[in-house]
Amino acid sequence: MLDLLLKNGVIITVDREHHIYTHGYIGIQDDRIACLGDMDDTPELPDAKTVIDLEGKPVLPGLVDGHGHAGHGMTRSICGNSADDWESAAESIYYMYSDEDFWYTEGALSAMERLKFGVTTAVSMVGNTPRVDDIWPIRAHMQGSLITGIRQYSGIGTANEPWPKTARTYHGETYDEYTVTPDKALQTTEEALKQLNGRHPRGTCIVAPGRMGKRPGYSIEDNILHNRRMYELACMYDQPIHTHAYGGDVAFLNEHTPEVLDWHLSLTHSTGYSEAELDILAKSNTYVFHGPTTYSHIIRRCPVTKMLERGIHVAVITDGSAPDRSFDLWRDMKNVQILQRYEHSDYSLLPCGKVLEMVTIEPARALGIDHLVGSLETGKKADLIRINTKQPHLTPFIHMPVERLVQFAMGQDVDLVITDGKIRMQGRTLTDVSEEKILQDAEEVFERTMKRFGRTDIFEDPGLYDLRH
Ligand SMILES: [Zn+2]
Repeated sequence: MLDLLLKNGVIITVDREHHIYTHGYIGIQDDRIACLGDMDDTPELPDAKTVIDLEGKPVLPGLVDGHGHAGHGMTRSICGNSADDWESAAESIYYMYSDEDFWYTEGALSAMERLKFGVTTAVSMVGNTPRVDDIWPIRAHMQGSLITGIRQYSGIGTANEPWPKTARTYHGETYDEYTVTPDKALQTTEEALKQLNGRHPRGTCIVAPGRMGKRPGYSIEDNILHNRRMYELACMYDQPIHTHAYGGDVAFLNEHTPEVLDWHLSLTHSTGYSEAELDILAKSNTYVFHGPTTYSHIIRRCPVTKMLERGIHVAVITDGSAPDRSFDLWRDMKNVQILQRYEHSDYSLLPCGKVLEMVTIEPARALGIDHLVGSLETGKKADLIRINTKQPHLTPFIHMPVERLVQFAMGQDVDLVITDGKIRMQGRTLTDVSEEKILQDAEEVFERTMKRFGRTDIFEDPGLYDLRH
């Protein structure tokens, strides 16, 4: 007897043959999909301990958000329209004013936001570039995330300049303050991989330096050593490398450490690449992670259409959740499509099926977990979501279901989330945790952190919203 049977739904599998079962079912045993298909072709459905009638609504694989940041749930909106001010404020908060509660609570808050938007697998780099003085921040972040039931990939690697950095570890309101060097960053990265992997079936620690390639402010020799060391760690612990990268970085990697450009590596932003760099990527198995509304894409483009034409692997990410972005990957599905179509004056670009793959099976491949998640197939993990299509913006639904979802559905339309075969959200309410407690804790931690940071002004009457240019 199955543990769970979902029936009477539109099953959008995102498998290689693009199957859609318009009157479909899915059977779940333990944490896996045991069977799925069309009810009209199945005379007798298997018995199950629990049966859920999908009421004609669609079920999809849980979305995979391949890039975001731990910490940002507490720092969004704090610096208005200045991305530079926000970046330096966030770095200060993460290194100097955050404690274990901050990382735990923000982990729970962000995981809750993602799950409620239908993201069942999430990648979070701890801090912005990232925080590397010790492993307690990433450990607390993972613990906070995992209580929600999400599949969490937490990233830590070497941070961007300037060096040395100053960091604090709090004991109540007192703290130890110390200096962090690039060598310490390498040690912390390896320690995190060693200590955190294998501790939780849904929690994985991956190699995620702030940037790889030709990092400004470092000698050629230092950069070569750095890139090689990150790759060695990824191979040693059999984990992906995930990093930010910009024009010049791919050429540098190809010239000095071409072995790095393999399946382990995914490059977020990938803006400002030369034609030669696109040629290099096309011959590699390296992935590009594109955030259509990121600051990087606003100031220099990621040539998504050109990359796809050349056979480069591209996934879409939120880069959430600050300074001005949420973790709603549904919003980025619409943005990537419309922005590419505007840029090239071509309405045929990025069909909806392709966009859906870019937030499911493509990022799963990039993380090396496409045998587990990213599509609905027998034997894979039972990570799936249902969308409430009984709403005006999604009705009539049954014709062109993928088009309707990609172009019109938003995160708040997800009404059922399952990971590892267990229901994590039903009727927009999480089942494993108290949402009220997480929200209340987040308010308290935010207030305490902003007081430490000296930004009590944001609790005062904000008056009018900002109209300055
Ligand atoms: Zn980022």
